[in-house]
Amino acid sequence: MAEASPPCPGQDPSVAALLAVRPALSMHAMDGLVLEEVPLNTIADALGTPTWVMSAGTLRARYQRLATAFRATGRPVSIHFAVKANDHLAVLRVLAAQGAGADVVSGGELQRALMAGIPAARIVFSGVGKTMPEMQAALRAGIAQINVESAEELELLSTVAQAEGLEAPVALRINPDVDAGTHAKITTGLATNKFGIPYNRAVDLYAHAATLPGIRPVGLAMHIGSQIVRMQPYRTAYARLADLVRAIRARGLHIEALDCGGGLGISYRDETEGAPEALAAAIHGELGGLGTRLAIEPGRWLAGPAGLLLSTVILRKRGYEGMPPFLVLDAAMNDLMRPSLYDAWHGIIPLSARDAVAPAEQVHVVGPVCESGDTFGHDRTLPHMDAGARLALLDCGAYGMVMSSTYNARPLAAQVMVDGGHWAVIRERQAITELWAADSIPPWVDETLLPSGGGL
Ligand SMILES: *Cc1c(COP(=O)(O)O)cnc(C)c1O
Repeated sequence: MAEASPPCPGQDPSVAALLAVRPALSMHAMDGLVLEEVPLNTIADALGTPTWVMSAGTLRARYQRLATAFRATGRPVSIHFAVKANDHLAVLRVLAAQGAGADVVSGGELQRALMAGIPAARIVFSGVGKTMPEMQAALRAGIAQINVESAEELELLSTVAQAEGLEAPVALRINPDVDAGTHAKITTGLATNKFGIPYNRAVDLYAHAATLPGIRPVGLAMHIGSQIVRMQPYRTAYARLADLVRAIRARGLHIEALDCGGGLGISYRDETEGAPEALAAAIHGELGGLGTRLAIEPGRWLAGPAGLLLSTVILRKRGYEGMPPFLVLDAAMNDLMRPSLYDAWHGIIPLSARDAVAPAEQVHVVGPVCESGDTFGHDRTLPHMDAGARLALLDCGAYGMVMSSTYNARPLAAQVMVDGGHWAVIRERQAITELWAADSIPPWVDETLLPSGGGL
């Protein structure tokens, strides 16, 4: 429920509480906020703000914790990173080096995953509206599995596979009609959501798939939503999946693979993070006895806590009498959209050690974009920060940079990767001229200019 519950004023976790559960971050008297071994002021001095920072060490540590949790059940799973959470090539490469595969939802993500060195045999293609060219590209690449979301899509895929003279390994994505108990915009497993095949049609469609040319049904897939921190919705959904496996086998059909989806939640504010050990136990408990291959598709859990967005306070703006002041940042909703889109709460920590221990005050934290929705937090309790103070927005590694836009003609922010004691720019700040480099003005619009120039 984390994303749905508006923060209650005055009860925000302190800087110390935020740091205590984020092992890659520490506050040093001289250097201020340090990520792994790199003072974040060093990065802000060199590149300015807003700037995204990803911690390679955090990505690796989290991948290892997840893999270890599943290995401990005796039934290892194959881990497919959900590329939509963060599609930067360097992020994908760090995870690939740990053994991660990928879950992609577009032809573009497929190309990114391949470019980053993730082999097609470790890539799964999900999504409710794959186009024929996307299917063709996936089949030509030799993709491990295509998760099909409808009978209609299955027919299209059969057509494409036949034309290519290839066979598509298919899992049917089932909509289990289970409420993941998360924010409405990130719930995907309800009957009212667009995702997946209705539960009661799954077995018939699986049988039909086995008769279609170019289609090789290998299993079932499920993904019930995102930012899930309780195990009960998973358990319910997986139990329904197990019933389907038995029903499919009772029809004499072959099934060898189960894709359990992503969705494991993290601690943005003071939620208890979804534990990989608990997820492993749920999957093992409900599905482990069926003798199938198992896969998961985590995005947020792996990448979210590995990323920060550095920003600077442009000014403090006084509000109405008796109301908290506005801290206007140089980052905005075009950079980090989650607060506007999902009412998401992100921790905020000053980069300077002195600011971090300043007396707490109540503030509204906003960006400069011309939208009331451009707000990072209402009534936030933060240490007093003056104009020019730098800060880090926490847990921005998933659904952060990937959702950025150039709204208000704001260039895309720079991106940095930190690894131990080194750091590198992994994407330059977008130049202003790039904003219109692909624009063109049709010649005939000039013919409609008024002789006066249409002046005021
Ligand atoms: C978005 C998505 C994921 C990843 O979700 P997280 O909440 O980031 O773990 C996994 N599988 C599918 C099909 C998705 O659409």
